[in-house]
Amino acid sequence: TSVPRIQLNDGNSIPQLGFGVFKVDLNETERIVTDALDVGYRHFDTARIYGNEQGVGRAIANAGVPREELFVTTKIWNDDHGTQSAFDAFDASLERLGLDYVDLYLIHWPTPAQDRYVETWRALEAIRESGRARSIGVSNFLVPHLERLLDETAVVPAIDQIELHPAHQQPATAAFAAEHGIAVEAWGPLGQGKYPLLELPEIVGPAEAHGTSPAQVVLRWHLQRGYIVFPKTTSRARMQQNFDVFDFELGDDEMQAITELERERRGGSHPDAVN
Ligand code: NAD
Repeated sequence: TSVPRIQLNDGNSIPQLGFGVFKVDLNETERIVTDALDVGYRHFDTARIYGNEQGVGRAIANAGVPREELFVTTKIWNDDHGTQSAFDAFDASLERLGLDYVDLYLIHWPTPAQDRYVETWRALEAIRESGRARSIGVSNFLVPHLERLLDETAVVPAIDQIELHPAHQQPATAAFAAEHGIAVEAWGPLGQGKYPLLELPEIVGPAEAHGTSPAQVVLRWHLQRGYIVFPKTTSRARMQQNFDVFDFELGDDEMQAITELERERRGGSHPDAVN
């Protein structure tokens, strides 16, 4: 299987399908990421707050996959906003990953109450300049937060990683991102099991028609919409299943019916409420 790549606004590109490790216990991470590498995943999404960067790093170190074939993302946590604290947090993440660069470094949440994301973004600009993060971006940034960065800083984020699935499509943020060449990563792409997405007839119908699972249909919807996804699972069978989404295509009517599932069903926190 060859995973398509999405072109970023800084000249780099990212595999459109990856593997996320939110809530993967550190003790299990090396085994799970090793399985994912074995299945064929080359793009991994972690964060300092997940507490498992070391496990991701160990799996990568043992896999023997050439570094340039991998795409590794990590994120700066809310208590590391600022200039020097961002530099220190970045160094510590690289150290835990055992890498000399990451492919993507993200501000995890805007934490508007701290009012420091502009300063933190400038620190990320300097980190990118150093070559130790190939691309930089943000996560959970809504239109007002993106607008401030565009107004007050030099580099347009390459990525905005936001909660996005058929029942919560964030049309305003997605449209703004598209307008400004910011690629969208969909976190919680399967709805994190918080909303019965995988049981809806609009999903189950196409799954039966194409001989796939409902999860594969949802992932296909994301891919055909142009979003970057990294579904999480600890089961090797589901890893394989989530990776096998390139040999069928949803028709326009199927896509349309799934797009009409928008219900503004946010599963996580509102970005303005996170500090
Ligand atoms: P997800 O939508 O990927 O859901 C994961 C859950 O779906 C798993 O626990 C599993 O039970 C189930 N699942 C996975 N594959 C399945 C399959 N084939 N069939 C049926 N069920 C299946 O949610 P997520 O893990 O929260 O999101 C994916 C990734 O996004 C995370 O691992 C993390 O990397 C990232 N993320 C980022 C943020 C952020 O604030 N930036 C927040 C949450 C998650």
